Amino acid sequence: MKMKAAFYLEPEKIEVREAKKPICHQGEILLKVSYCAICGTDVRTYLHGHKKVHPPHIIGHEIAGEIAEIGKGVKGCRVGERVTVVTSVGCGRCRWCRKGLYNLCPEGKAIGYFYPGGFAEYLLMPKKGVLQNLILKIPKNVELLEASIIEPLSCCLHGQSYLNIKKNDSVAIFGAGPIGMMHLELAKEKGASKTFLIDISEEKLKFARKYFSADRFINGDKENPAEKILSFTKNNGVDVVIVAAPAKVAQQQALKIAGKKARVSFFGGLPGNDSIIAFDSNFLHYNEISVFGSFASNRVEYVQALNLIASGKIKAKNFITHQLPLERIEEGFGLLRKGKALKVVLKI
Ligand SMILES: [Zn+2]
Ligand SMILES: [Zn+2]
Repeated sequence: MKMKAAFYLEPEKIEVREAKKPICHQGEILLKVSYCAICGTDVRTYLHGHKKVHPPHIIGHEIAGEIAEIGKGVKGCRVGERVTVVTSVGCGRCRWCRKGLYNLCPEGKAIGYFYPGGFAEYLLMPKKGVLQNLILKIPKNVELLEASIIEPLSCCLHGQSYLNIKKNDSVAIFGAGPIGMMHLELAKEKGASKTFLIDISEEKLKFARKYFSADRFINGDKENPAEKILSFTKNNGVDVVIVAAPAKVAQQQALKIAGKKARVSFFGGLPGNDSIIAFDSNFLHYNEISVFGSFASNRVEYVQALNLIASGKIKAKNFITHQLPLERIEEGFGLLRKGKALKVVLKI
């Protein structure tokens, strides 16, 4: 049996072609993919490659689909059920996996990185993933299109789980991509009263302004965001800063605008070969500022993300600016790379 799949071949080269449909063995679940959204990480893999992706490989991990086949011995699911996929698959044995923190497993293997991903008609959930309960059912009132953004939303929830955002907190976000927008909406959901959104791309800011509201949109290319925010906050700085942009300068500015007792999230990673930054450590010391890292997410945040979408508190469709067929995947990457889209979802 054949299926259609997009193979990442080398930087800036992805090809849609026929491939063997995966066989569903004992303990595995085969999904028929309906939608797979393109993640910022997919764009980075497309442009520069990824150390965990060995081409030719099917990437894509923001998946919504239906159960197509169930391997022998798998209980608790039915063919035809609508589902999404938790990305991080752990070894299942280490101290982190034993706590359910598969995202921190040193031998972690993720769907769409190590395992073939969702830019294909079918996707196989490996036995380990089935045992770790990494398939999540979608309730009737959530469309599969909406379900395709559960993964990025779950990552934002994971990042914010460290930040204790409360009513009337002021929140600054670096990065006006879909992740920055999700952070913005989640922060407002928690009662943030003042919000600042910073990006160096006028194109992205234009998009952000069109679909979302923040108190101030700041173009970091034209004005100094740290000076601006300090003047808006009467030199108090903000309660929470989230850096959802892969830039050293954004991380450094984030630490400058952090107020007393502020919580700072380095949500996005920096390029692997250039990730050392300098900052005034005493400023953190005297002002009791906390800095948190965040990487991927786990099932618990998927469930939270799903509930926020199901209840209408987060409007999934507001993030989706483009839907394209799988064949036009490179066009999708092109739109994202130029900042001309928020979420691009491929209809498989
Ligand atoms: Zn993602
Ligand atoms: Zn592990």
